[in-house]
Amino acid sequence: MKAAVFHAPGNITCDTIDDPVIQDASDIILKVTSTAICGSDLHMYSGGIPQLRPMVMGHEFMGIVQETGQNINHLKVGDRVVVPFPIACGGCYFCQHNLPTACEHSNPEHYGPEGGLITEKGGALFGYSDLYGGYNGGQAQYVRVPYAHFGPRKVADGLTDEQVLFLTDIFPTGYTGVMWGELKGGETVAVFGAGPVGSMSVKSAILHNAKKVIVIDTLQYRLDQIKRLTGCETILWEDAKEVIEQIRELTGGRGADLCIDAVGFEPDRSLLDKAKAVMNFEKGSIKVLEACMSAVRRGGTVSILGVYPTNYDNFKLGQVFDKGITLKSGQCNVHPIIDMLMDHVQSGRVQLDDIITHRLSLEDVSAGYEIFDKKQDGCVKVVLDPWK
Ligand code: NAD
Ligand code: ZN
Ligand code: ZN
Repeated sequence: MKAAVFHAPGNITCDTIDDPVIQDASDIILKVTSTAICGSDLHMYSGGIPQLRPMVMGHEFMGIVQETGQNINHLKVGDRVVVPFPIACGGCYFCQHNLPTACEHSNPEHYGPEGGLITEKGGALFGYSDLYGGYNGGQAQYVRVPYAHFGPRKVADGLTDEQVLFLTDIFPTGYTGVMWGELKGGETVAVFGAGPVGSMSVKSAILHNAKKVIVIDTLQYRLDQIKRLTGCETILWEDAKEVIEQIRELTGGRGADLCIDAVGFEPDRSLLDKAKAVMNFEKGSIKVLEACMSAVRRGGTVSILGVYPTNYDNFKLGQVFDKGITLKSGQCNVHPIIDMLMDHVQSGRVQLDDIITHRLSLEDVSAGYEIFDKKQDGCVKVVLDPWK
C-alpha cells in the first residue's frame, strides 16, 4: 500500500510498504478514504517530537471497514467510520473515567525524549512517535485500528467525508477548549491562533453562545478566513502588549472570560540535534501562553490546546494565583464527546469543512507538509486522498 512515512525531521515521503494485518481480536483494518495533516504532525516534522525509526504518520482519518478481528461485533465489513485520534482500551480506570488519552493499556512504555521514564503509564496516539505508543497512523491507504470496540464511530450515509473528518481531532479539541471555560452564554472568548484548532475553537465558542469572539494570529490571511467564515473580531499579532491592550479595550478593561491558546510552545528550531532527533526546549517561546494569562479576566479560564514539551518548566505561576485563573490543558479526550459533536454536524448547527484550503493526493504528501508547515499558498488545512 501507499503510506506517508516519517524518516527524519523534514523528511516525510509517500512510500510503498506492506499492508497492515489484524494483530489482535479487537483490531479492525480500515481502508482509509480521507485523512488530514494536523498542526501536531508538524511537531514531528520539525523534530520537536523525537522519532528515530520510520513510521506511518497521521491521526486524523476515516474510511471503510475492510476486515474485523474476532471480538468486533458492532462493526462489519463495509461500514463507514471516523476514528478518534487517541488509542484507548475502553476498560481501564482512565477510559472508564472519560480520560482515554491516559489509557493504561495502549502505551505501557511511555518513554521520554532521552529514553528516561517520564510517567509510568500514558496513552497512545495514531502515527505519533514511539513516545505515544509507536502505532502506525492513517495517512495511508490502510490502517490497523486497535481497540476498535471503543474508538470508531459509524457515519450516516448522507454525510460526506469532509463534513465529518474533523470529528477525529480538531473539532473535539477546539470544543474542549471552550467546554473548559464553562460558558453560560454572553461571554467574551479570545482565541490565540487562527489555524485549524483555533478555527474550531471559534466555531465552538459560537455554539456556546459567546457574545464576542476575538481571534489573534500573526498571519493576516488566516484571520481573514476565520472572519469571513464566522464574523468574529480579529487582531493581528505584532506585539504582545498591544494585543493584550486591545483585548482589554474590547472587554471594558476587564479582560476576556476565556482565553484559548491554540498555538502552543514555539521551539527554537535551530536547536535540533538531528542525529539524536532531540530538540533543546530550554530556548523557545511561551509568549502566547503568557499573553493569555494577561488577557484573561480575574477568575477566568485559560485553555491550553497547543502543545508544550514535557520537560519545559520555566512557567511563572504568580499571575495564575493572583488573578485566580483556572488553567486547563492536555490532549483532547475525544471519545466522551464525539457522539454529541457528530449530532451538531448532522443537524447542521456547525460546518467544519469550510476551513479546508488544500486537497491533495497522498502521493503529494511531502508537498502537503511543506506548504502547511511554511504557511504557503494561503494554507489552513490539508486533506489527503489516499486513492487519487
Ligand atoms: P497551526 O500551526 O496551523 O496553527 C497555529 C497558528 O498559530 C498559526 O496560524 C500561526 O500563525 C499562529 N501563531 C503563531 N504564533 C502566534 C502568536 N504569537 N500569536 C497568535 N498566533 C500565532 O496548527 P493547528 O493545527 O491549528 O494546531 C495548533 C496547536 O494545537 C498545535 O500545537 C497542535 O499540536 C495542537 N493540537 C492539540 C491538540 C490537543 O488535543 N490538545 C489537538 C490538535 C492539535
Ligand atoms: Zn490532529
Ligand atoms: Zn484504557
